[in-house]
Amino acid sequence: MERYRRQLMLHGFTGEHQRKLKDSTALIAGIGGLGGTAAIYLAVAGIGKMVFAHYGNLTLSNMNRQILMKHEWIGSSRVVQAQKTIGEINPDVEVEIFDGRISGDNIGDFLDGVQITLSARPNFNERRILNAACVGRDIPMVEAAMNGMEGYLFNIVPHVTPCLNCLYPEDDPEWEELGFPVLGAVSGILGCLMSIETIKLLTGYGKPLYSEMLAFNTMNMDFRKLKTWKDAQCTVCGADQTRT
Ligand SMILES: [Zn+2]
Repeated sequence: MERYRRQLMLHGFTGEHQRKLKDSTALIAGIGGLGGTAAIYLAVAGIGKMVFAHYGNLTLSNMNRQILMKHEWIGSSRVVQAQKTIGEINPDVEVEIFDGRISGDNIGDFLDGVQITLSARPNFNERRILNAACVGRDIPMVEAAMNGMEGYLFNIVPHVTPCLNCLYPEDDPEWEELGFPVLGAVSGILGCLMSIETIKLLTGYGKPLYSEMLAFNTMNMDFRKLKTWKDAQCTVCGADQTRT
């Protein structure tokens, strides 16, 4: 508890909130600028367990944003190194890793025992798989994306808030997985915001975003909250979809 003494001083944040966090497991889909930053702050806050899913090895061009990584690790598996860094920061946090892409076939394996998902993959396909799987299993998901100086954040609470498919029924045909600009500090603040929403959703502390999207542009420091609506005909969470 000494490790968490300063956060236990937060108004209304009790030992019970801390215990809920300790009893929680989060799937972090994407250990990059967003997911990696979120993982650090969930670890220092005392989450019980995280599952890291990310495909591939660390490259030099990852290093402008991936603060879990060290220069000497370029060429080695990102999830292996992320697990190592988290262990050095807070050895009480359990980390499971998977070095691969998320697919419709393997998503079920990751979600066993998970209470929340952080969606931080840089492509529509994996985000849609995560969305459908979490809605189907009633697992809340923190959805965040960035592009250049801009960021977007909303929570998907199945059958309460809109899902990803309600808001984005079609892929952006222009989108390229590694073709968008990133300033590390922008992915960093968005990763921090993801971790705050995760802590709130897991513990019941504070007021998470429900049916609202935080959209910001750090080019002129414009931060706003936009109201979002469920699509009753949504093919993922709409009224006609049977709950599984
Ligand atoms: Zn939906």
